[in-house]
Amino acid sequence: MRFTIYMLLIYLSFPVLSQVDRCSFDEYRQILKNRGLYKECKNYSSQYYSMQDTYTIPVVVHILYNNDGQNISDERVYSQIEVLNQDYSASNMSLDNIPDEFQDVIGEVGFAFCLVQKDLDGNDFSGINRVYTEVESFNMSDDAMKRSSEGGVDAWDSENYLNFWVCNLSGNLLGFATMPGDVSAELDGVVVDYEYFGVDLSSSSPYNLGRTATHEVGHYFNLEHTFYAGCSDWDSCDDTPSISSPTYGCPEFPQESCNSIDMTMNYMDYTNDACMHMFSSCQAELMIDALLTYRPNLIAAEDCSVSIDENTYTNDIFIHPNPVLDKIFLSIEKSSIYLYDIYGREILSNYYLDKDFLDVSFLHSGTYIIIIDNYIQKFIKR
Ligand code: ZN
Ligand code: CA
Repeated sequence: MRFTIYMLLIYLSFPVLSQVDRCSFDEYRQILKNRGLYKECKNYSSQYYSMQDTYTIPVVVHILYNNDGQNISDERVYSQIEVLNQDYSASNMSLDNIPDEFQDVIGEVGFAFCLVQKDLDGNDFSGINRVYTEVESFNMSDDAMKRSSEGGVDAWDSENYLNFWVCNLSGNLLGFATMPGDVSAELDGVVVDYEYFGVDLSSSSPYNLGRTATHEVGHYFNLEHTFYAGCSDWDSCDDTPSISSPTYGCPEFPQESCNSIDMTMNYMDYTNDACMHMFSSCQAELMIDALLTYRPNLIAAEDCSVSIDENTYTNDIFIHPNPVLDKIFLSIEKSSIYLYDIYGREILSNYYLDKDFLDVSFLHSGTYIIIIDNYIQKFIKR
């Protein structure tokens, strides 16, 4: 029976019309089992941590590149960390898009991801580990990206760091991840294809807003797909209604299956990045539980915030302070400005500023792009 359902899941994961494998978690788990690497009996360490509002999780991003295009920019990495932080704190602006039916079960996970600021020897470090590789593309089936001896890069101590491997994945895979205890430590972490890591507004892909990592990190903290086992609903959460199959694209609301309204906007479904907006309360609790029970050493003792460009100057114009709480001052006045959020959504268009500051207290916290007289500046709203 279980095998039959599993085959059904495999089938459902490859819809005829899909051009990408939105997530290869289920297939990867099967590969691990076939290779004898999957731990059916898991040993968990158990330590006591008191509940708190926010848990800081140190991240190292290994970028494996065979050419310049695969060597994605620091900005892209920062934008990914930003998206993770917004999604896991339920502070992304798209929460307004969640239907009334699900507003009461929006989950705030309270994880703050940060790029580690020290390397394993204690030296200052950006959190971004760039490694040239001779390998043109990596296969999910052999985990070579996770081994230096095979053209990849060895995991940093995965009990203490969330390892991301960003590389060129063969086929049309977007990413895959390991659940707590699934595998031995050196294979533990999240793999994302370089094209889908971070926010890339120049990309026409519907997976260009960093939600592949949001989804995969969900698996990393023990979440199943919302459509796991279809109407049998094996995702361990009652507040994610059972859903018969993965949802692709960006569906109108409401969609129904299994006699209930589908939560297609859940990060653990397969919709376009722009159309997924929430974890549920139960999913948040499962992830916090996974962190405290199975991955307690991940919790960082101190914040290791993303280093933001300190140089906010351009040739002629500068802005301060940065980060900003309420008013951002410009070195010029009487100018027209454009303001965008990190998703590229326009907030102000050709807005005429007749003073030397802009009141940004109305913005949610996050990263913003301001364009003044064709000069582009980035600032952080606290
Ligand atoms: Zn998945
Ligand atoms: Ca469910």
